[in-house]
Amino acid sequence: MMPRSADYEVKLTPDHESLRHTIRDFAEKEIRPVAFEIDRNNKIPRDLLRRIAGVGLTAITYKEEYGGLGGDLLSMVIAIEEIARVSAACSTVFVASHLVSEPLNEWGSAEQKKRFLVPMVSGEKIGAHAMTEPGAGSDVAGIKSTAKLHGTHWEINGRKTFITNGEIAELYLVFARTSPPPSARERHKGLSAFMVERGTEGFQVGSHIETTGLRGSQPSELILDHVKVPTDNLVGKEGDGFYIGVKTYDRGRVDVSAQGVGIAQAAYEAAINYAQTRTSFEKPLIDFHPVQAGRDGHGTSHGTLAHLLGSIAQRSGQGVCQSRIDRESNID
Ligand SMILES: Cc1cc2nc3c(=O)[nH]c(=O)nc-3n(C[C@H](O)[C@H](O)[C@H](O)COP(=O)(O)OP(=O)(O)OC[C@H]3O[C@@H](n4cnc5c(N)ncnc54)[C@H](O)[C@@H]3O)c2cc1C
Repeated sequence: MMPRSADYEVKLTPDHESLRHTIRDFAEKEIRPVAFEIDRNNKIPRDLLRRIAGVGLTAITYKEEYGGLGGDLLSMVIAIEEIARVSAACSTVFVASHLVSEPLNEWGSAEQKKRFLVPMVSGEKIGAHAMTEPGAGSDVAGIKSTAKLHGTHWEINGRKTFITNGEIAELYLVFARTSPPPSARERHKGLSAFMVERGTEGFQVGSHIETTGLRGSQPSELILDHVKVPTDNLVGKEGDGFYIGVKTYDRGRVDVSAQGVGIAQAAYEAAINYAQTRTSFEKPLIDFHPVQAGRDGHGTSHGTLAHLLGSIAQRSGQGVCQSRIDRESNID
């Protein structure tokens, strides 16, 4: 059967509209005036991150018992869109931090939730998700970092790269191999995830990696040199690291798409503003037919994207949009 547009209907409630209004207002007043400075200095003031957390960016989808607001994923999408519309870098800090708080929420023990999730939901601590290595990006199963069990602690060794929030986080979710792959087809098996706190002996932030477009939220390298963490810091079960990572990316992609929609919205508004104020041949650019056609086309594309993303957020919240990876999957 052909999909119908009604299947993708996005139901925005007055609470969603009110949230958009609140976050947009906040972003215009608190972030817009310093957005250029953030880009120029390549640094986001920590106090601003605290204030962004204060409007709910770290808390929306988490349960009240962890200090969250108990909201839906669509609310989170709206909040990220609105922050990204004004500063892509600011939104990136929170999207990356969710790649730690989400798996803690899903697979963390009660003790881990108390120690790590609660201070992340309140915005007191920022997280960094450490999967990528110099030799393994898309190929998550190819990571070479290792963790070996020594009685009451794990010892982690390896090197990570491109880690967003690497320089500013207090809590790191680090993936490492805890056992060799059972076979060539099952090379994704034997990975595990660990919480590592900033300041742990042997843990070091390496070089800062320059990127364009996200200045203010630059990723960095991490060095793990005989880093010892208690066995209680293993997140989920030993060997579930690949599953935890890939399931986390299901959710992460929704947040990253929300950033894309927010950035596209900003680009669209800037283009319209320019076309209305810039005159050529003695009339504003917007009066020229090709410019109007471009405006209409981009407006429709952006509206469609935003609608599709809203629908994905709703459906993900209902468990409809999930990868088919499970613990026993084999990857060819
Ligand atoms: C700004 C930024 C922030 C980041 N933040 C984080 C972070 O917080 N934590 C973290 O762990 N990582 C982070 N990353 C790393 C990111 O996850 C990796 O860059 C990504 O996984 C791709 O890996 P790679 O760069 O090694 O590219 P590769 O995996 O080497 O891919 C190179 C090219 O080959 C293509 N390719 C790869 N495999 C296939 C295939 N099977 N079929 C077809 N095409 C393929 C890719 O699409 C790509 O075009 C960040 C990266 C950037 C740029």
